[in-house]
Amino acid sequence: MKELLLIPGPTPVSEEVLSALSKETIAHTDDRFASIMTSALDKTRKLFGAEKGFPFIIAGSGTLGMEMALTNILNEGENLLVLSHGFFGDRFVDIGKTLGVNVEVLKAPAGETVPLTSIESTLRKHHFHAITITHVDTSTGTLADVETIANMVHEVSPETFIVVDGVCATGGVEQKFDKWGIDVIFTGSQKALAVPPGLTLLAFSERAIEKRKSMAKVRTYYGDILRWMPVMEDPHKYFATPAVNMVYALEKSLSIITEFGLPAYYEKHTRMAAKVRAALTTVGFELVSKHPASTLSVFKYPDGIEDAAFRSKLAVKGVIVASALAELQGKAFRMGHMGSVTEDELLVALKRMLEVCQELGVKVDKGQALNAFLEG
Ligand code: PMP
Repeated sequence: MKELLLIPGPTPVSEEVLSALSKETIAHTDDRFASIMTSALDKTRKLFGAEKGFPFIIAGSGTLGMEMALTNILNEGENLLVLSHGFFGDRFVDIGKTLGVNVEVLKAPAGETVPLTSIESTLRKHHFHAITITHVDTSTGTLADVETIANMVHEVSPETFIVVDGVCATGGVEQKFDKWGIDVIFTGSQKALAVPPGLTLLAFSERAIEKRKSMAKVRTYYGDILRWMPVMEDPHKYFATPAVNMVYALEKSLSIITEFGLPAYYEKHTRMAAKVRAALTTVGFELVSKHPASTLSVFKYPDGIEDAAFRSKLAVKGVIVASALAELQGKAFRMGHMGSVTEDELLVALKRMLEVCQELGVKVDKGQALNAFLEG
């Protein structure tokens, strides 16, 4: 049986995308590659709702996107407000400190988001040059209300740049870069986009690019948007060799998603999340997040289920889920339901999970769980 990779990224990659990946490598300045790159960039704009944004596709993981977002808009000594509802929000704190930025963090307990009123009062007290919002924090499965936060920031502190980490959201959750007035957004290839890990996709607003242009010193070479902009405008140009085959794969996957239709793709994620949750809660699994994202679920175990035993027994049956992070480690597991994964595959995974629960001595009503999935 084919292994079912249900961790929150990387996610399964379809045969079509894998076959695009394995096409012959051609010169990165060749007309044929330039047109594939241009097509991927156009689709990246649509994905982010960023018709007015400037798109980038760069070899590197999501963390490169995080770093590029900050290095290109913040000078040393400037102020950054981080909204953290988990492990990946906290990563912005580390990156900011590494870059010599003054970081203040508003941290929410696991499964919660930072209240709008505390963000507002913090912004009224101090001037922040930028604020980061993790759209979906993959450690807790928590979705932030980016639109509401962005509207408030525009009202209270219009000069503050808004940075959105879309790594576990983009494609699975709607994003409206232009409409929400976002300054920098980025994602990774390996989650809802259903491409192997290795690319970060970004968009910068005009004012974010102007900010970079005004900076006397930038603390990066490879990640400097000014070095990449000429290449993204005309992919025949060279700055550093693009990941040619990864761009084939990305372009193929974005074409498949575009053809499926973005609204239908979001809807598919919402439906898959609802089904998985409806089924597993009948067995006593408890969703950690009070604001659950449609791309993944983090479930606390019912009594009697031990983390390592559950995940390893499930792995023997070909279903791979992830351990939880930080304070949730050992108490919960993380399950991705995003990208090319289908409802049929999730149903197979659910059946395997129910078997494992029984093997671990937990009583389950299989019929009830399966019905909940089908009706969910
Ligand atoms: N942000 C979020 C929300 C993530 O989920 C991840 C990875 N899981 C990252 C950033 C970092 O991405 P990467 O591991 O690709 O560097």
